[in-house]
Amino acid sequence: MSHEGIRITPKEPEAPEREERLPLSRIAVTPEKVRVLLTEGKGMEIDWADGHRSAWSFAWLRDACPCATCVEERSQVGRKPGEPKAKPAAVLPMYAPPAKPASAYPVGRYAIQFNWLDGHSGGIYSWEYLRRSCQCRECSK
Ligand SMILES: [Zn+2]
Ligand SMILES: [Zn+2]
Repeated sequence: MSHEGIRITPKEPEAPEREERLPLSRIAVTPEKVRVLLTEGKGMEIDWADGHRSAWSFAWLRDACPCATCVEERSQVGRKPGEPKAKPAAVLPMYAPPAKPASAYPVGRYAIQFNWLDGHSGGIYSWEYLRRSCQCRECSK
């Protein structure tokens, strides 16, 4: 048996400029209270077990849908989670009703899912994803 001809390519080192993702503590991703403001059409608020509070508008959540289709679509156009779609400038603006879910329900103990009024529902929003996407001034610095 000969090992000649086998070349092992060393793995590229991880790019240092990659966004640093510090691990979150368990209480930071444990929701104490989840309020989905369906009737008001406002959005969702979460009080976390570590005392932090986060809030997202439904529009943001819809544009941050973590399902494979939406993630793929966003990566193709370079859209960040929650960033609204670019509107074609040449076309007369059409009225688009703001994103709103018809219902929301928990997925196991780790996530929440929305049934959007536009018929979309594939995205599973894990507590960790939501905590990492906290919109408060402190976190979005
Ligand atoms: Zn989606
Ligand atoms: Zn925050």
